[in-house]
Amino acid sequence: MDRCHDGPVSSAEPTVVVVEDDTNIANLVELYLRDAGFRVSLADRGERALDLVRARPPSLVVLDVGLAGELDGYDVCRALRTHSQVPILMLTARDGEEDRIHGFEVGADDYLVKPFSPRELVVRVQAILRRADPDRAPSSVVVAGGVEIDPVRREARSGGQVVALAAREFDLLAHLGAHRGQVLSRQQLLDGVWGEGWVGDERTVDVHVRQLRKKLGDPLPLTTVWGVGYRLD
Ligand code: CA
Repeated sequence: MDRCHDGPVSSAEPTVVVVEDDTNIANLVELYLRDAGFRVSLADRGERALDLVRARPPSLVVLDVGLAGELDGYDVCRALRTHSQVPILMLTARDGEEDRIHGFEVGADDYLVKPFSPRELVVRVQAILRRADPDRAPSSVVVAGGVEIDPVRREARSGGQVVALAAREFDLLAHLGAHRGQVLSRQQLLDGVWGEGWVGDERTVDVHVRQLRKKLGDPLPLTTVWGVGYRLD
């Protein structure tokens, strides 16, 4: 089951791919999203969802965790994140912390717990799209090696996966990203990230760099320039 509605709508309308194998829920979500002005494509299997997104990248994906077929929602999310930054709203069956955390770990942007109000789903979809609107932050995302740094959303991805960073860690990464290719001394990093009035030790920078390396792993092209400082390539 998958349908594209190409009726009398303009291509400027935002498109949503809804991935859900429960026909009743899929149809309900489709109805509300269409009422709100979205163009909707339905996919009942993960494999089909991946094909749809590849063929025609949508504005957003609504993705149920529990799917029939080989791929569950987490698998689909992970697969999408290898090549796409499309916002993903996950639908989870249980309000379990583990489920939510797992969703974010594989790259979801938001989640809703079933049973959910379709109106709330629409509101969340609109909110995610506002946050993700590229017109609001033209090319603000910095790509360094396998790491993407999005200062507007304050999000870092490594190898396509969102990585949870502490606020200061993100600030340091974003500062290095804004000066890609330049060697910055520890003092310059302290001034730029912690502020010129900050009183502290230059080793603070090293501690945070260590955390960034640990959390972002090999995709992070951050070089130590001995006796000088750090450079993000
Ligand atoms: Ca389902």
